[in-house]
Amino acid sequence: MRIDFNRPPFVGTETEYIREAVEVNHMICGDGPFTKKCSAWMKEHFDSKGLLLTTSCTHALEMAAYLADIQPGDEVIMPSYTFVSTADAFVLRGATCVFVDVHPETMNIDETQIEAAITDKTKAIVPVHYAGVSCAMDEILDIAKRHNLKVIEDAAQGVNAFYKGKALGTIGDFGAYSFHETKNYSMGEGGALLFQDEAYLEDAEILREKGTNRSKFFRGQIDKYTWVGYGSSYLPSDMNAAYLWAQLEACDKINEKRRAIWDFYNDNLKELADQGLIQQPFVPDYATHNAHMYYIKAKDLEERTALIKFLREREIYAAFHYVPLHTATAGQKFGRFFGEDKYTTSESDRLVRLPMYYSLTMDDAATVVEAIKDFYKK
Ligand SMILES: *Cc1c(COP(=O)(O)O)cnc(C)c1O
Repeated sequence: MRIDFNRPPFVGTETEYIREAVEVNHMICGDGPFTKKCSAWMKEHFDSKGLLLTTSCTHALEMAAYLADIQPGDEVIMPSYTFVSTADAFVLRGATCVFVDVHPETMNIDETQIEAAITDKTKAIVPVHYAGVSCAMDEILDIAKRHNLKVIEDAAQGVNAFYKGKALGTIGDFGAYSFHETKNYSMGEGGALLFQDEAYLEDAEILREKGTNRSKFFRGQIDKYTWVGYGSSYLPSDMNAAYLWAQLEACDKINEKRRAIWDFYNDNLKELADQGLIQQPFVPDYATHNAHMYYIKAKDLEERTALIKFLREREIYAAFHYVPLHTATAGQKFGRFFGEDKYTTSESDRLVRLPMYYSLTMDDAATVVEAIKDFYKK
């Protein structure tokens, strides 16, 4: 029996809500009733002053880069070990990416190296909360404050995860969530932009609504709407928001299931870690993670390749990811690595992600663990 690497989360009420959007609400464009419910729910649960649903996390990051006034020639500090969108959003504004090495135990940006990477062109720091485990935010905010930089959190993987009790995405000036089908809570494709200074609201709405003040018009604050600035179209369909609403209603249930799988992997693979055969993820005390991902690290690239192949022969699909951005063609064109690449490449070569999704059964998880143990028995 095949064990997929990922399946989109589905709790059962999604189709009913999509039907409601179509047949009852007769509204499937953006900013309909489901979009409003989702944003209000997240603003309250994650305690965010501003939150707008978007078509993707990539687009939320693009909005943040624009609102943070990133200009051609500016520099933005980020890890190289991340998804391409983290960089793309800033490259679109003409910025240069300055890649800083990661901590090997969390794969998050090494905050102790950020300050040395700052130049007079630096405008922002972009921490990526890898696997839903928070970066060292107090240190990052302190550096940003002293150097007058914006902090834009790539919290694509960090929905419903926390740093010292604060929801990821709500700690910096801006945050970006993803509701892609590979993430904990989904709407197929989608995301959200978060911000804590309400002064950004008007510009964010204009940017999201093709450069118009349409949102103000719908609130009855003005009697006609018009073109007031640069904009694009970052509103998701209310059908997608209907799917997300079902997921948010089941937020605790989804989180508990993912945590159960994560804990099972972690408890049962511990003996391999104790024998020094693999390494397990590390979660700092300040972080409450959301079980977005479970990964282990093999000895090296060769062993990882063999492990993935061994699992695939048993129809278990494990995956690796992130060719470090600074080694990619575009990364060389649009960025540079600051200092020494001590861990980014070597640690990413060792990392294997195990199947992790809402509908994965505990029996499936046990099968995965057994297979990994068999591999290391050889
Ligand atoms: C998934 C992901 C994104 C992109 O999210 P989309 O919603 O697909 O645009 C960006 N950054 C990170 C770290 C991600 O994991």
